Amino acid sequence: MTLEIVTIPCLADNYAFLLRDQATGTVALVDAPEAYPIQKALHEKGWKLDAVLLTHHHYDHVDGLPELVEEYHPQVIGAKEDAHRLPPLDLALNEGDTFMLGESVGHVIDVSGHTIGHIAFHFPSANAVFTADSLMALGCGRLFEGTPEMMWASLSKLAALPADTIVYSGHEYTASNAKFALTVEPNNTALQARIADVTAKRANGSPTVPSSLAEELATNPFLRAHLPEMKTAVGMEDASDQQVFTAIRKQKDNF
Ligand code: ZN
Ligand code: FE
Repeated sequence: MTLEIVTIPCLADNYAFLLRDQATGTVALVDAPEAYPIQKALHEKGWKLDAVLLTHHHYDHVDGLPELVEEYHPQVIGAKEDAHRLPPLDLALNEGDTFMLGESVGHVIDVSGHTIGHIAFHFPSANAVFTADSLMALGCGRLFEGTPEMMWASLSKLAALPADTIVYSGHEYTASNAKFALTVEPNNTALQARIADVTAKRANGSPTVPSSLAEELATNPFLRAHLPEMKTAVGMEDASDQQVFTAIRKQKDNF
């Protein structure tokens, strides 16, 4: 592992992540839901904060930033497309851009859908992708700004990453996502097994984030709209992948 990653529960059900590049000791934060738990984690680790990576403009991902900037003066990195409504950025990036966290290379992937200008951060050397409210454990973010077409395109990019990639998403929504997923594919045995695992983890207060991309590909209905077994499960054998995704997303909105 080139990065040490610490998961920090924030607010009611958000996650922030601290990433420390092992080679240089450089530390970045992904999203700033609130300052206190992040300051506490930095203090316990004895780490400074060199950079903050923002995924999208929603308050539950940025509201802790001013306090952290005041205390640590990190470089603030976010999407150029979203710069007009994000906190002031020191580095504004586009899809396909890369940046350095110490000696670790981060890649920017546009994952618009939940919001327009939502980005994910992929660190190939650590097999880690930070997806916030795009791809989530057993789910995907609600479409507040983008279209189903946009979200399907975004999820398809994430689905194409190596299957052993670890997915660090932004919320602990897995148990409720699981209930919906089971209504879509009640006969998916990988899903049934995963739900048992999720239930056990939640029963003892453990997070269900991160998850592996392989697990998501096998169980997350929003990554499975292109599969014949999913088309059969939803009775849309002749529909396009896009149409199946749109239908599943609409069912979830009304669930
Ligand atoms: Zn959001
Ligand atoms: Fe959120």
